[in-house]
Amino acid sequence: MRQERRSKILIVDDNPQNIELLMELFKDEYKIAAATNAQRALKIAASHTPPDIILADILMPEMDGYDLCLALKKDTKTQNIPVIFVTALSEILDENRGFSLGAIDYITKPFHPPVVKARVRLHLDLKRKQELLEKYAFIDALTEIPNRRRFDEVMDCEWNRAMRSGNVLSLIFMDIDYFKTYNDTYGHDIGDECLRRVAACLQNSMRRAGDFVARYGGEEFAAILPYTNYTDAIAMAKHITKNVDDLAIEHKTSDACRHLSLSMGITTIRPSETSRPSDFLKTADTMLYSAKEKGRHSIQGIDQSVASS
Ligand code: GH3
Ligand code: MG
Ligand code: MG
Repeated sequence: MRQERRSKILIVDDNPQNIELLMELFKDEYKIAAATNAQRALKIAASHTPPDIILADILMPEMDGYDLCLALKKDTKTQNIPVIFVTALSEILDENRGFSLGAIDYITKPFHPPVVKARVRLHLDLKRKQELLEKYAFIDALTEIPNRRRFDEVMDCEWNRAMRSGNVLSLIFMDIDYFKTYNDTYGHDIGDECLRRVAACLQNSMRRAGDFVARYGGEEFAAILPYTNYTDAIAMAKHITKNVDDLAIEHKTSDACRHLSLSMGITTIRPSETSRPSDFLKTADTMLYSAKEKGRHSIQGIDQSVASS
């Protein structure tokens, strides 16, 4: 397991003494950043190393804690950072206002250190769990590569991007040959292990930063290759075929090959107002079907980028 990174707390207070007090309390357990005004806090929150949680005073000159909270929630980059108000009880004019602006808690001064620590720990814990949930919503549990849901998102995004820039987009559909008989021969658990190995191999086969591969369904995978023309997509498919062949996973009941193999369907398009992602996917699937018909362990494709321009 990777060592857990230390969480970062941002303390915002116009009174440096209050900052020091909280720093003293948290410095052994967390990384700390501090700001004596809300504007500075916003800059830190939107930086490349944002805090995991913000402890903010309410009464500050110019921009107060409420406005800080509002500004944080407006920016998609900072809206998920939990904000706790740390303030004197007498300064909380309207508790509801803080919560309605998106603060998750109040800590009142003078504070009791163990309570403050426990609250902060609790909110950091909740945030971490929320992030894990979000992450696993897009990861396939068996193979730990992106799932179909993520595929749909990436396809949508790359399709629009290619349309805006006038670039080509390629898609490779891949399906393991005779996987039903593989399971029948070696058992379902070995079948699962095989899917994991193939998935890892596909992921390692991606070459450019934008190349993306997902588990599309049972023993089907799909790769999205932005800015990739048909010739390069074919080269990529051959590269993947070689890598999977090199795994040399025994499959003695396959009629296609002595080892486990893939069939692939490829298509390339230059997305336009008249083309649709669903047709793009359907074309790749038709090509995959044709590769199966041609005897499997093969690649079939069609270049739509020339015809449609
Ligand atoms: P073809 O060469 O035409 O693709 O034949 P095939 O046997 O691979 O295709 P078919 O669609 O008939 O069977 C797919 C098999 O994949 C059946 C199913 O049990 C297996 N499969 C799907 N998901 C999983 C999984 O998560 N784990 C395991 N072990 N097997 C799976
Ligand atoms: Mg199959
Ligand atoms: Mg299949």
